[in-house]
Amino acid sequence: MADTSIEWATKVWNPSTGCDRVSPGCHKCYALTMARRLKAMGSAKYQVDGDPRTSGPGFGLTLHPDTLTTPHGWHQPERIFVNSMSDLFHARVPLEFVQRVFETAAATPQHTYMVLTKRARRLSRVASRLEWPENLWIGVSVESADYLDRVDDLRAVDQAAVRFVSAEPLLGPLDGLDLSWIDWLIAGGESGPGARPLALEWVRDLIARCDRWGTAPFVKQLGAAWAKQHGADSKGGDWSYWPADLRVREYPLGAEAVTR
Ligand code: SF4
Repeated sequence: MADTSIEWATKVWNPSTGCDRVSPGCHKCYALTMARRLKAMGSAKYQVDGDPRTSGPGFGLTLHPDTLTTPHGWHQPERIFVNSMSDLFHARVPLEFVQRVFETAAATPQHTYMVLTKRARRLSRVASRLEWPENLWIGVSVESADYLDRVDDLRAVDQAAVRFVSAEPLLGPLDGLDLSWIDWLIAGGESGPGARPLALEWVRDLIARCDRWGTAPFVKQLGAAWAKQHGADSKGGDWSYWPADLRVREYPLGAEAVTR
């Protein structure tokens, strides 16, 4: 629930915190590392420990119903990243709680909500039991071609006003990625020490796929490994260092009004 440095959002809102790793994209989960620090600092939302095999200190899945109305207090239009520190479609978030998050979005149409999940199967299973407000965008993370089925699950959520794919951390080429009915694609290399490298060709391929399917591409960062090689900022997010053809940051059609 704070201002954020994430390029595509102006606020984060965490009605739940904590999670469990589900795939290689989780290997260097920023939220897991942050939760450990926040627990040590005594932060009230991060005192429940998760399973050490999949989670960590302060990162046990926890609901925070007292925060469900927080966005009502934000009067300026905001782009809100929902659950930067969790996954709203984690199995231990009851459907009724997800419904309440959606109700908050519906009641605050001045904001745009962005929900990003790796639990695409559960998302597609429960989608018809949710009321989908126009101002809620739904996305799935896909780090490699092994997880393209998440995009198929996302495509099935035809109730959503905007569907997006986050290819971050991008760990391999997304050969075979079908972007039909996908409005937006964010691409990014991994951050942090020991980050796995990104090949620029993978990003070029994604931009070409976006052009083919009419999907808006947003290249967020080229990652820490690339940045180190090129003397750029720590996560390779400053595009003045990039090859010109990769400097692409678009938003889905119709969304420009809420993104400025
Ligand atoms: S799904 Fe997201 S929040 Fe959960 S462990 Fe993986 S990267 Fe972290």
